[in-house]
Amino acid sequence: MGFRIGNGYDVHQLAQGRDLVLGGVHIPHDKGCVAHSDGDALIHALCDALLGAAALGDIGHHFPDTSAEFKDIDSRILLRRTMQLVRDAGYELVNADVTLLLQKPKVAPYIGKMREELAAAMDTDIENISVKATTTERLGFVGREEGVAAQAVALICRK
Ligand code: MG
Repeated sequence: MGFRIGNGYDVHQLAQGRDLVLGGVHIPHDKGCVAHSDGDALIHALCDALLGAAALGDIGHHFPDTSAEFKDIDSRILLRRTMQLVRDAGYELVNADVTLLLQKPKVAPYIGKMREELAAAMDTDIENISVKATTTERLGFVGREEGVAAQAVALICRK
């Protein structure tokens, strides 16, 4: 046995004049995420799921948004470092599953590339990483295109 599961959730506000980066992929859009980092909510949720599974705290603890080191940082670096923390604690990834919630734009054409980017940053096979996306049927802050949200679960096991 030695299996452990974790979940993560993140939200970022959308604003004009910012790049939209989700799952490590730049997506052409007129709005992007407002954040101290590159605002990749998908990766942030995944990091929190991994840290939660290993009971290692959360992303804000390890990569504080008050630190200049993490200003505009590529979140794939945070994911790589998170995976290292998990491995250093004696665990290996089994699989992870992420759901992205955003109204626009359609991200289906980018899902494959996101999985590739995530798997590369985590040093795992692409079949261990699932990415899904949904709108919220125009309801709530996601539906009003005010923000993007992401949920993730990760399963790890003792090495
Ligand atoms: Mg975040």
